[in-house]
Amino acid sequence: MTNLRRILIVGGGTAGWMAACAMNQAVKRLGTVVELVESEEIGTIGVGEATVPTIRDFNRSIGLDEVAFMKATQGSFKLGIAFQDWRAKGTSFFHGFGDYIVNAGPYSTLNHWLVARHLAGQDAVGPFDDYHMAAVMAAAGRFAAPESDPRSPYAYFSYAFHFDASLYARMLRAKAEAEGVVRHEGRITQVDRHADTGFITQVHLADDRILAADLFIDCSGFVSLLSDKTLAEPWVDYSHWLPVDRAWAVPCAGTGTPAPFTRATALEAGWQWRIPLQHRTGNGYVFSSAHVTEDAARERLLAGLDGRVLAEPRLLRFRTGRRQRFWIGNCIAIGLSSGFVEPLESTSISLIQGGITRLVNLLPDMDFNPGLAAEYNRIQALEFDRIRDFIILHYALNGREDSEFWRERRRIPLPDTLAEKIETFRATGQVVLLNEETFVTPSWQALFIGLGLIPQRLDPLMAAQDRGEVLETLRLRQQSLAQAAARLPSHGDFINRFCKAD
Ligand code: FAD
Repeated sequence: MTNLRRILIVGGGTAGWMAACAMNQAVKRLGTVVELVESEEIGTIGVGEATVPTIRDFNRSIGLDEVAFMKATQGSFKLGIAFQDWRAKGTSFFHGFGDYIVNAGPYSTLNHWLVARHLAGQDAVGPFDDYHMAAVMAAAGRFAAPESDPRSPYAYFSYAFHFDASLYARMLRAKAEAEGVVRHEGRITQVDRHADTGFITQVHLADDRILAADLFIDCSGFVSLLSDKTLAEPWVDYSHWLPVDRAWAVPCAGTGTPAPFTRATALEAGWQWRIPLQHRTGNGYVFSSAHVTEDAARERLLAGLDGRVLAEPRLLRFRTGRRQRFWIGNCIAIGLSSGFVEPLESTSISLIQGGITRLVNLLPDMDFNPGLAAEYNRIQALEFDRIRDFIILHYALNGREDSEFWRERRRIPLPDTLAEKIETFRATGQVVLLNEETFVTPSWQALFIGLGLIPQRLDPLMAAQDRGEVLETLRLRQQSLAQAAARLPSHGDFINRFCKAD
């Protein structure tokens, strides 16, 4: 067995520098050298500002201090996503990070809520959001870090970040270079492959330099320089389910304290994001070009902003789907080169993280046993497809009548895996989890209920409980969460106290 001698990461966006930090730390003790090549002339995509809680594990694993990270990236805290106008115009619900206080078995918070709602009516129990600590905190604009004591309501939420993606990449680059990663500036113009094995051997830069390696990590973004342009790996298309294919992105000045959540507002031909950072608010309209023109979408976005526009809107074009395989020979695609699902649940960076972690766990040696690649590809594909299902759900249960885009979304046949989940929940109130789900039971519950899918039956054990007790339990739970949230500092105060950017 011979260890890898040299790994070359192609691309220096979020994916490239995350991979550089993590891979370098993992392989340093093997004597493997990690290098990265990127082109300032080409640049990075420059969006990708909202995350899910696993980013905290990643930052911790590479030794990134959270306070330093928040200051350096103009970060704010994210408790979840507020969905506005999805079920119908004027409706909203929250997908919070973390769990409901009791979320397993017949006595789960959901079953309490359903039985109480059945007994006393929706008005008496309030929205399901009132029973998720993250949602209650978000509604009150409060933030503090969770506690570990399971008796405390503060134990039942989690959080992620909003950050400036270019500042994050800069911070990771500084760390990676300080730890020995070698960076090359230059544009790749040619890629060479071994005549027999098809393995990539080296890349040529525009100024004739040649960079050789044993393993290549393709982080070249949408251009997918190695996986697509060189290896021609087929594309698995998701666009018949998820037709949005463009986004206008524009920053605007913040208005007061940043909200501790992302807002996703459904518009006529897609949806709009609002991501509050310390120094500005990121906005974008993700839309289907088959349903609205680029110009009309730009105007729609600009008309709906709540702060002074800070730059010209940028248009991004994309395809929704993934590569059939991600690891081909000695090349692994990570980031946008490997696939893309619209950023409705901020999953791209978590997919990057998953890919890097998996690669470290399945690290090859010079023999490149094909079983490692097969396992990597199996899991990564499942992860992509499960996220795809979760995103489709947001559209499938919409109740909007105002445009063909939304009516069409209800009509298209769903992937079997999603259709089964919806039908089981509709009939029984149970969430069926499959392998490699990024989003687990509380997330599916929040979406199902938020989109108005109320199960047709009550859980029999819960329904047999004493009625008074059910109502009282729920009332106390709602009260304790509201009181707990009220004791917390505002999100703005928390940032000012602990992690205000200099
Ligand atoms: P890029 O940032 O495009 O980097 C590609 C790198 O490859 C660059 O350094 C480039 O210079 C280099 N390169 C390319 N060709 C060559 C060449 N020939 N020679 C040398 N170097 C080359 N993700 C989230 O998690 N949350 C979000 O909120 C979110 N919002 C998004 C909104 C939109 C509209 C879009 C399109 C994406 C969003 N994403 C989001 C995804 C996120 O932006 C990406 O996952 C993330 O930025 C990683 O990108 P990347 O590093 O793969 O590619």
